[in-house]
Amino acid sequence: MPAAPAGTAAAPARAENAFLSQADAAARSARIANVDYILDFTLTGKETFNATTTLQFDLLDASTPLTIDLDKATIATLTVNGKPVAPRYNNWFITLAPADLVKGRNIVTVAFQRLHSTNGEGLHRMTDPVDGRVYTYSHFEPAGAHQMFAVFDQPDLKATYQLSVTAPADWTVISTTRESGVQPAAGDSRRWTFPRTKKLSPYNFSLHAGPYKMWEDKSGPYPMRLFARQSVASQIKPAEWFKYTSDGLTFFDNYFGLPYQFDKYDQILVPDFLYGAMENAGAITFGEARFLYKADMTAAQRQALAGVIMHEMAHQWFGDLVTMKWWNGLWLNESFASFMGTLATAEATEFKDAWQGFYSQGKLAAYVQDQQASTHPIEVPVPSTANAFDNIDAITYSKGASTLIQLRHLLGEDVFRKGVHNYLTKFAWRNATLDDFIGALGDAAGRDLKPWTADWLYQAGVNTVAADYTCKAGRIGSFTLRQSAPSAALPTLREQRVQVATFRREGSKLVLARNVPVTYRGAATAVPALSGSACPDLVYPNYQDWGFVKVALDPRSLATARAHLAGVDDPLLRTMLWQSLWDGVRDGKTPLGGFLDTALANAPNETDYTLLGDVLGKVMAARNLLDRIGAETAASRRTGLALEDMAWNGVKAHAGNGDFQRRWLRNYVGLVRSMPGQQRLAGLLDGSAGIDGLVINQDLRWEIIQQLSRRDYPGSAALVASEAARDKSAAGQAAAIAAEVARPDAATKARWLATVQDQKTDLPFSKIRVAMNNLYPADQGGLNEASADARLAQLAVLDKSAGPVYMRAYANSMIPATCTPASVARLGKAAASMTQLSALTRRSLLNAQDEDQRCVAIKAAAARH
Ligand SMILES: [Zn+2]
Repeated sequence: MPAAPAGTAAAPARAENAFLSQADAAARSARIANVDYILDFTLTGKETFNATTTLQFDLLDASTPLTIDLDKATIATLTVNGKPVAPRYNNWFITLAPADLVKGRNIVTVAFQRLHSTNGEGLHRMTDPVDGRVYTYSHFEPAGAHQMFAVFDQPDLKATYQLSVTAPADWTVISTTRESGVQPAAGDSRRWTFPRTKKLSPYNFSLHAGPYKMWEDKSGPYPMRLFARQSVASQIKPAEWFKYTSDGLTFFDNYFGLPYQFDKYDQILVPDFLYGAMENAGAITFGEARFLYKADMTAAQRQALAGVIMHEMAHQWFGDLVTMKWWNGLWLNESFASFMGTLATAEATEFKDAWQGFYSQGKLAAYVQDQQASTHPIEVPVPSTANAFDNIDAITYSKGASTLIQLRHLLGEDVFRKGVHNYLTKFAWRNATLDDFIGALGDAAGRDLKPWTADWLYQAGVNTVAADYTCKAGRIGSFTLRQSAPSAALPTLREQRVQVATFRREGSKLVLARNVPVTYRGAATAVPALSGSACPDLVYPNYQDWGFVKVALDPRSLATARAHLAGVDDPLLRTMLWQSLWDGVRDGKTPLGGFLDTALANAPNETDYTLLGDVLGKVMAARNLLDRIGAETAASRRTGLALEDMAWNGVKAHAGNGDFQRRWLRNYVGLVRSMPGQQRLAGLLDGSAGIDGLVINQDLRWEIIQQLSRRDYPGSAALVASEAARDKSAAGQAAAIAAEVARPDAATKARWLATVQDQKTDLPFSKIRVAMNNLYPADQGGLNEASADARLAQLAVLDKSAGPVYMRAYANSMIPATCTPASVARLGKAAASMTQLSALTRRSLLNAQDEDQRCVAIKAAAARH
């Protein structure tokens, strides 16, 4: 924004609310430089903590007020440049008067008391239900640092942090740097002091304290530690964590050509975490819910762990060392880490097929979202910290990452890597923008990437590519790639580099005949290199998945794919062909039953572990669609029983193969609808239906109990109660809630709906979120419908009062969609009448309507067949 000319009226005062606007942030960072924080905390394990923050900074001009962010604190004293000042404080920020400030260096000290948070932001506190021990950890992104100390809480005011913490004697304190001293202090406590950090954005600094159990590995150039709560320590396999971490550090040091900058590498598993993990500099936090297992990890779980370790590690360079200026840059931060995390997993661990996992777990979600009415460009404005996470979804994580992958193919691996290295070197310890990043790549490539950026990052929608060719006397005549836009409203066609592959049938196999790299632009691109080659049985115009594009198979290729899916050796291509068949269902073109027939015929023979997970995921989604469609018929009942049989046979067929067997077993538990199936599940629990070598671990026990509760199996309420009494862990408490809320009983639903909507509930938010996600399963359409109007009516009310963290979860799980034309119309009416919704909630509402409309179309397609 333009600077006000000297001598004119002061800028309007900052709005009195919990958030910081981009305009106010920009105005503040234009006036301030060289920020240093001295932080002192006293933690006792009780619900409040005491702290003193000293801020030192250079001020360009002392002519207007200056604000300092500090959320819901009780301020004891405020000193500005040596003078005690009565604080002007509104519970969100302190306003300093010009008269108290000076041009040049200022020193401000704030002493305060504050409650620990229980919502997962700021300095979160949790009491372990097993042993009563208290644990704390910080989480700041996007703007939670001021829930812990007084701070200029915006990413482009990087600063140093000098930390001291007084804590109970049996606690360990973990932060960005390693402690320089630990001294006995008053009472039964110790005082920890830490050296000053390098320059960091507030959201990348962190503090974690509690009686954590520690593991250590000093074998590599950077000392590594791992921490977890005492009561879950037996579930941790530190050797696996350290191996992936150490392999990742070697990989990234080499890839970026710039060594890791934060001296030590700590990783902390924490409870009640809002997200999967967080890239705090040198002290990365991981959500227990995703990384604690009560049995040996399956290959899929190990791969997920390796992938997240690599993702957070990539952020140590791209995110922590070089940081976005404002939250509109968050997508690039996440996309780059997703891309680089997958690359490191594929190249530095045993999971060589990590790109296949990226396709089925990331990219497919991006395709779904990019085809919804609410789709948005990758790069969008973020007016305030309230909107920082509005656009953090599959488009920003996975489509963004896919465009970076495409760019790497377009420019070439060496050029891409050189551009990244130059960017990290040039902007180290500073902030940068999208233009800085694209500029560095363009410089390395010697080409202007502005048109590419405009098409890919500022325009929404996914293009479709199709092969159009003629065949004569067994040879291809002409071959053209045709590109189309999704709609008149999204007309952009894009430049893209892909591989076009042709396949020929040889017996039961489909064998690669030709593979031709092509850069295409516009509506039609001729591929002369394929003219004259043998006529194919299958053409795939995005072989090995370089492009972000929907593939429309030509009729001959589609028929070949349906009939000879199992004859394709390459698992990634097989995955993409499965997706083409599933796209047909989602688009209402192929009947659901036809897809399930293909699944019943092919899934049992699938030998690729990653792809099996993907296919069984689609089977589960198809089963849920059958439930949502409702009105069971003889045919759908038969299909349901066939699915149960398929999965149980999968369990039996893979005795002795733990990973495959567990994958089939979890699928079986999810698919069971029949009474004999439920009786078998109950038998697995009490041991009467066990089969040799099959171990039902605690996580699986809860999955089974949840399914029985959801079906209202006789005695299931007592099962939930007795299991909860046996498993008192935090994970057990969450699983018990998931099981209880799933019971098909109106009184249970009403009670939990009231709890979920109660803004003053005593339950920590992590538990509320579990309830939301399990309250209305796909097969409880009647109960879902019963409270639909009431939930929709509450949407606007909650949206006003509950804040973005709550609303993100609520809007994604509690908006009613019951797969009828009336339900679609109800959502449409809500979207039209609720004009004041936040952007985030509005998008969820439109997505719910879109998915509901698809469900109705799938139902109609099923009825036609
Ligand atoms: Zn990330």
